[in-house]
Amino acid sequence: MSPIQPKLIYRSCPLCGLDRLRVVFRESTYYFNTPLTMNIVQCCNCSMVYTNPRLAEENITYEKQDYITPEYVRFHTFIKGKVFRNALARLRFFRPPPAFLIDVGSGIGSFLVQVRKSGYNVLGIEPSRANVKYASEQSNLSIREGHFESLSLEGIRADILTMWDVLEHIAEPRKFIKSAKKVLKPGGIIVLRFPGETFQRIKSIFLRLIKGNNAVIYSPVIHLNFFSHKTIRRLLCEEGFEIIAICTTTSEGRENNGFFNIIRFIWSGMASLLAKLTGIYIDNIEVYARSL
Ligand SMILES: [Zn+2]
Repeated sequence: MSPIQPKLIYRSCPLCGLDRLRVVFRESTYYFNTPLTMNIVQCCNCSMVYTNPRLAEENITYEKQDYITPEYVRFHTFIKGKVFRNALARLRFFRPPPAFLIDVGSGIGSFLVQVRKSGYNVLGIEPSRANVKYASEQSNLSIREGHFESLSLEGIRADILTMWDVLEHIAEPRKFIKSAKKVLKPGGIIVLRFPGETFQRIKSIFLRLIKGNNAVIYSPVIHLNFFSHKTIRRLLCEEGFEIIAICTTTSEGRENNGFFNIIRFIWSGMASLLAKLTGIYIDNIEVYARSL
């Protein structure tokens, strides 16, 4: 089979719109069987880190997933379970039920099932048809199929919008946050979880030393934005949100890899303490913000 040639698109800074940038990392990767080297750049004006150029939309593969395997469900439940339990505890503190919550990028519905049990009314939005079918049939969840920015959500207003590991995949994050603002009620809460820019940079140093050029770090084929606590704060404040909490997020474990899980657990604990004491975020980030 001949290699697929993906189309690439150059972008201006997704935060400030300027084109003054420097390359901070070059990652060797694959698009299906086509080898690619992609640039991670940093804006010299606002410090935003992003993939540039990025793959064009038609090369994005999420919608092409045909069916959900038991292995996928077990893997997803394992790696996200603790993340969702801890996040739900925070959410109950900031906005206890009853409330209407929309989970954008709801996947197989794991988070929505937990949230519904806690007394929230829930709706999912999900681009993958296979995920929508699975969540609807297995958990009797209400899920809208499609991309959040392009779906018609006329008349729908939420108290809470959650976006777990979504923002890094979005080509135009400012447009995405503007859409979120329109769907939220005044005073509503948005919750975002995403790869922290500093954590990616630390990973790039260590993993490059250990694995050389084969290290998977930024995953630029699917990850387009790498916000820090400063750049996410700027984006949300400029779009009419007030930050109520920024913290390092619960780490994802790995099945059958106790050593990795211990190291990750220790790092996560240290990162959480450092963030509380100094405001320096060396792990992935979770943000809670209120619509003004
Ligand atoms: Zn910029």
